[in-house]
Amino acid sequence: LGGRISGAIRQMSNATVIDKKVLNDCLNEITHALLQADVQFSIVSDLHTNIKRIVDFDALAAGHDKRKIISKAIFNELCRILNPGKKPPFTPKRGKTSVVMFVGLQGSGKTTTCAKYAHFHRSKGWKPALVCADTFRAGAFDQLKQNAVKAKIPFCGSYTESDPVTIAAQGVERFKKENSDLIIVDTSGRHRQEAALFEEMRQLAEATKPDLVVFVMDGSIGQAAFDQAEAFKQSIDVGAVIVTKLDGHAKGGGALSAVAATKSPVLFIGTGEHVHEFQVFDAEPFVKRLLGMGADLSGFMDNIHQAVSSMDQVQKPPELLSESGNFTLRNMYEQFQLMLNMGPIGHAIPGFDQELMMPKGGSGKMKRYMIMMDSMTKKELDSPNGSLMNNESRILRVAKGSGHSIEAVKEMLEAYKRQAKIWSKTLKKGSKNNKMMNVEQ
Ligand code: GDP
Ligand code: MG
Repeated sequence: LGGRISGAIRQMSNATVIDKKVLNDCLNEITHALLQADVQFSIVSDLHTNIKRIVDFDALAAGHDKRKIISKAIFNELCRILNPGKKPPFTPKRGKTSVVMFVGLQGSGKTTTCAKYAHFHRSKGWKPALVCADTFRAGAFDQLKQNAVKAKIPFCGSYTESDPVTIAAQGVERFKKENSDLIIVDTSGRHRQEAALFEEMRQLAEATKPDLVVFVMDGSIGQAAFDQAEAFKQSIDVGAVIVTKLDGHAKGGGALSAVAATKSPVLFIGTGEHVHEFQVFDAEPFVKRLLGMGADLSGFMDNIHQAVSSMDQVQKPPELLSESGNFTLRNMYEQFQLMLNMGPIGHAIPGFDQELMMPKGGSGKMKRYMIMMDSMTKKELDSPNGSLMNNESRILRVAKGSGHSIEAVKEMLEAYKRQAKIWSKTLKKGSKNNKMMNVEQ
C-alpha cells in the first residue's frame, strides 16, 4: 500500500508540468490503492475530496510549488485517517483501578504486548498487574509468567483451571484487593476469526467489565487487516488498537485499515520482541515510514534508503531461489510481487528483465503474467526450470483457467526463461565479487 502511494506521488513529482490531469492520475492511483487495501470507501472518498479542495489549481498563484503542496496534502490526509479525532474512550485514572483487556488473533502479539504495556505504565508510576486468561494455548501461562517475572510485574494464572472466565474474574478480584491500579487481562486467540473465540471474549468482558478493550493486530498482515479488525470490532467494544511487529520490513499499511475498521486510535506500536521495543504511536512518523519517506518531506525524490532496503530483499538469493538453486516460476512470481510493491524504483534493479518494466508492457504485463501463474499448480510453479510447463495440455489448461490465449501463456513462459537466464548470470556475478547491487556507492 505504502509502495503504491509513494509510487504515485513519485510519478506526480516526476511529471514535467503539474496540471489537473497529473493530479487526477495521482489521486486515482492512491484511491485505488486504499480501496484495494480495504480502507472504507467513505474515508477514501473524503481523502480525495479534501485533497482536491486543498490543491485548487485555479486559486494557486504561479510560483507555488505544486509538487510540494500536493505531497503535503496527501501526507496530511493520511495522518488524519490515522488520527480518527477521538481520544481513546478511556485512559487509566490515578487512584482508581482500571481493567484493560487485550484481544486479537493467536500470534498477533497479545501476551508480549500486555507485558510491554504493563512495563510502560509501571515506568510512569502505575501499579500494573497481569492476568493470564488464556487456557487455549498450551504454555500460555508460562509465557506470560516469564514475561512478567522478567519485567517484575505481579501476575496470576492457573495450570489447573480450564475456564478462562473463572481465572479472569478471580484474577481481577485479587488484584483489586491488592490495590493494583491497572489490571491487564491477556486473553487467548485463535488462528482465525471464529465464533468460539468471540463468544469467549464476550464472556470474559462480562466477567471482568473492562474499562478498555485493546485490539492487538500484527502489523505485517497487510490486506487482511480490515476484515480482521472489523470482525473484532463487531464482536466486542474495541476502544483502541496496538499494532505489533512494525520492526523489520513491515511498513504497516494495515494500521490504516485497522483504524478505519475500528474507528479507534492506535495507542502504541510494537517494534520488536523485547519489552522495551514499544512506542507511543504518533501518526506523522508512521505515515512517513509507510510512504518510505525520510525525515524530510521534500525528500520524496531521492528516497534511496527505501530503494536500498527493498533491494536488500531482492539481494538474498537463497530465499528467492528454490532449494536446488533453481530460479523457478514461483521465484519469478515473488519477484514480480516485490517489483510491483516497489513501484518505479524497480527500474534500478539489475537482474531484472528491463522489458517488463517498460511503460508499454509495464506492470500490466507483470500482473497479467501473475494471473496466469495463479492458474498453475504448486508442482508446476516449483518445477525446476519450469519443466512441467513444457507441455501443451498444461499450457492449454492455464490459458483457459486464467482467461488468456495459448500464445499469451507461451509468451509468459518465454519471458520466464529469459528472466531465469538473466537471474542466474546476475547471481554468478554477485557471488564472485559479492557486489551485485552496489547502488548506494
Ligand atoms: P499472542 O498469541 O497474541 O499472545 O502473541 P505472542 O505475544 O505470543 O507473540 C507471538 C510472537 O510474536 C512471539 O514470538 C513474539 O515474540 C512475537 N512478537 C510480538 N510482538 C512483536 C513485535 O513487535 N515485533 C516482533 N518482531 N515480534 C513480536
Ligand atoms: Mg498469548
